[in-house]
Amino acid sequence: MDIAIIGSGMAGLATARILKDAGHTVTIFEALSGRGMDSHSIQFEGGIIDAPLRVMNPHLWKNTLSLATHLGMTMFPVRTYMACSWLFEDRTETWLTTSRTRIGNFPIINNRKGLKQYGWRLVKGMLQLKTAIQQFFKSEQQEITLAEFINQHHIEEVFWHGAVMPVLYTVCTCNPKTIGDWPAKPLLVFLRQLTDGDALLRMQGGTPAFVDRLIDGIDIRSGAAITGVEQQGEQVHVETAQGSQGVFDRVIVATPTSNIEEFLHPEQFAEDIALLKQFRFEQGDLVIHTDTTVMPPRRKDWSVLSYMMDRKFTRQQFTVWMNAVEPSLVGKNPVFQTWRPVTDIDPKKIISTVKLTRAVVDSSTVALNKELQQRHRMPDRKVFFCGSWSCDGLPILESAVTSAMNIAEIFNAPLPFVGLKPHIEIAPQLGY
Ligand SMILES: Cc1cc2nc3c(=O)[nH]c(=O)nc-3n(C[C@H](O)[C@H](O)[C@H](O)COP(=O)(O)OP(=O)(O)OC[C@H]3O[C@@H](n4cnc5c(N)ncnc54)[C@H](O)[C@@H]3O)c2cc1C
Repeated sequence: MDIAIIGSGMAGLATARILKDAGHTVTIFEALSGRGMDSHSIQFEGGIIDAPLRVMNPHLWKNTLSLATHLGMTMFPVRTYMACSWLFEDRTETWLTTSRTRIGNFPIINNRKGLKQYGWRLVKGMLQLKTAIQQFFKSEQQEITLAEFINQHHIEEVFWHGAVMPVLYTVCTCNPKTIGDWPAKPLLVFLRQLTDGDALLRMQGGTPAFVDRLIDGIDIRSGAAITGVEQQGEQVHVETAQGSQGVFDRVIVATPTSNIEEFLHPEQFAEDIALLKQFRFEQGDLVIHTDTTVMPPRRKDWSVLSYMMDRKFTRQQFTVWMNAVEPSLVGKNPVFQTWRPVTDIDPKKIISTVKLTRAVVDSSTVALNKELQQRHRMPDRKVFFCGSWSCDGLPILESAVTSAMNIAEIFNAPLPFVGLKPHIEIAPQLGY
């Protein structure tokens, strides 16, 4: 079949690769000038800055890693230790830095002051969380929100708000108000896996290398925002903002659903639009810069992840120290990515500011997704939808790949990558 794919994020590209390899003719339309998935990645002093950073746990990003391995990508492990610092009016003070023991790979607290002040409460919090997670997975009531979970279990505040919630903001969204509405289950699965201590993986060559392989041999039209999708008899007509038109047997929409009514025919897709508009999204700024004030004041406290927060946990931000996770940046000037900064970043040190859209999961997402999958099975269906938002778990690369696999199933397309173990090589530059 002749298939158009709208959007070249992870979901669109994975769908394109799978359908192309199944023998279809695929054309990708992307609104941005480059490829959506790596459109924000940039060069810095000859190294690659992946924006946003793509890090993957081998158990939670199974399909993404298998697909990448199938396409010949190699992964390398990164240490994602964290430093937490209090933001005071006039200064910043680091109260927690972590690493793992060489033998046994147990999490440890490095910071002497933090250990003295909070050591026992942090250890107690960790044990309380482990027990609470165990109880949760044994219980029959797993359809609760994160806020309900935390109300049911007492977990030391400094551990929960100071060390766990910042990690969850990193994975989901930085808005503390919405995170309580998330279903607890995918977040607890994530935390359980994280505390088990497997190193997170990144891809050699970064996202651009992966995108090159995903689109190999596929026609991609960049700078071609779709403004119209209309079914005409047995075919689907698509139109771009520039006025070019095309006719396809099937169309896969792989964009966030927030603006979907702008291009889907309002009458033909009225029911789809009503359903899709119920998925929620948030936007935030990712600032790429060289301002070291986002890191702990003492260089010896620097970690890959720097979390900063006030003591009431009302202001918080996280920063990734790129040189510590990207081999091509080792030995170069320090460069950072800060998500939704709440501290002032020197404008002269900003390399770029990127607006990113992220899906928000709440208790209705699972039901909405079920309904969408049912709609996909309706006879004579010609237009389908996928994206990291159309999955029951966290809206990460893995959910985008899983949503592409759902589309593959409808087209009876083979999934030869499923089950492949990632090909991992140590990056010696990172000091492993
Ligand atoms: C700060 C941050 C950090 C993250 N870190 C990680 C991480 O470490 N690991 C991880 O797994 N996930 C991470 N994520 C999440 C991950 O980036 C997303 O889940 C994933 O990229 C979503 O892919 P997608 O294909 O569903 O959507 P998108 O990437 O949003 O792709 C949709 C594409 O459609 C295009 N488009 C929209 N409208 C049109 C139109 N009308 N015509 C043509 N094209 C159109 C857009 O330009 C875009 O390129 C992070 C997210 C954020 C915000």
